[in-house]
Amino acid sequence: MFRAGLLQEMVPLAGLTTLEVGGPARYLAEPETLEELSEVLAMARDQGLTTYPLGDGSNLLASDEGFEGMLVRLANRQVEIERKTGSGHIRVRAGAGLDWDGLVERTVREGLAGLECLSGIPGRVGACPIQNIGAYGQEVSDTIQAVMVLDLDTGQMVHRSHQECGFRYRSSHFKHAWRGRYLVWSVEFLLRSDGRPTLRYGDLTRHFDLGPQDPLPSLDAVRQAVLEVRRGKSMVRDPHNPNSRSAGSFFTNPLIPEERAAQLLTSSPDMPVHPAIPGWCKLSAAWLIENAGFCKGTIRGRAGLSEDHVLALINRGGASSQEILDLAGEIRRTVQARFGVLLEPEPNLLGFNQPWEDLLGG
Ligand SMILES: Cc1cc2nc3c(=O)[nH]c(=O)nc-3n(C[C@H](O)[C@H](O)[C@H](O)COP(=O)(O)OP(=O)(O)OC[C@H]3O[C@@H](n4cnc5c(N)ncnc54)[C@H](O)[C@@H]3O)c2cc1C
Repeated sequence: MFRAGLLQEMVPLAGLTTLEVGGPARYLAEPETLEELSEVLAMARDQGLTTYPLGDGSNLLASDEGFEGMLVRLANRQVEIERKTGSGHIRVRAGAGLDWDGLVERTVREGLAGLECLSGIPGRVGACPIQNIGAYGQEVSDTIQAVMVLDLDTGQMVHRSHQECGFRYRSSHFKHAWRGRYLVWSVEFLLRSDGRPTLRYGDLTRHFDLGPQDPLPSLDAVRQAVLEVRRGKSMVRDPHNPNSRSAGSFFTNPLIPEERAAQLLTSSPDMPVHPAIPGWCKLSAAWLIENAGFCKGTIRGRAGLSEDHVLALINRGGASSQEILDLAGEIRRTVQARFGVLLEPEPNLLGFNQPWEDLLGG
């Protein structure tokens, strides 16, 4: 007999995802402890159900057909702050079920630097390593020291060090090589106690407009500036703002070889091209989409593009996942035809039997 509230049946995915699309999930389990987690996993095993880790559904496209398995949304929300005076670094361990922005707010309040630019990103702590969340000059992999995971094959808790996780731009082994293998139980961060914020992103440095002699702003000032900039782009979740009914940026910024970037610049000299890892350049997905003819506020039935951010595909109200896919496919094909660059979708799929390539067509 499960604790009341631990397991629900036939839960609409539209209510569990920020895009607000998707049919029913057969089961939703929300374990708070390792014991509860093993109880629900035992049930899934006995009934031959597929399990899928869920956070706040802010990086998901869920199928209109729903999901025939068990969603496991961890609800462990403990935080431990280990103050080791003298080292300049503070270890913070946070449970997967904790609200991400709540953790950022707390670390900023405690004067700990390293997460401040990641303010306002929706979701839970357990999802932060999956795509190595990033914004405004920080990536979470800059501060993740280790990730505690449950190996779903062996039932063992495993410690995965930073080096083992294969973090890259919007990617990690959790998203690719280890997909489906691990449930993230908690994440360990190493933050700086000097309280110096990271100020390297254009929008943020412009916001503060500091002269060479000016003192650095406080962590909280940087957090508030990030939140303000994000609100201006509807990139903070707000149930009253349809422009934030999205999965955030729908496409990642493409990484292409340097030689290919040089070719593109000859035909499109205005194209922003940024050096990335050696031999590779990063293009702006937003620029490619706009210059392929899609503007902010584009409407396709009940789907569309945010009026504040061309990279955010939105549900304008009552959209199906198929409508979102149709718009994403149209954008991807048009960008490819115009620039020869294939945009990669950022969200994860839930309840589909086909990969992105097949769903988007062409
Ligand atoms: C308005 C808006 C703005 C956004 N801005 C940004 C941004 O600036 N930068 C950025 O990087 N992202 C951004 N995102 C995307 C999203 O917020 C992040 O990817 C976030 O980390 C997803 O967290 P979640 O809890 O909602 O995960 P979900 O969407 O529920 O899940 C995402 C993936 O993680 C897996 N997962 C979730 N929890 C676990 C777990 N405990 N163990 C194993 N796997 C797990 C899921 O299976 C799924 O594959 C934005 C989204 C929105 C809606």
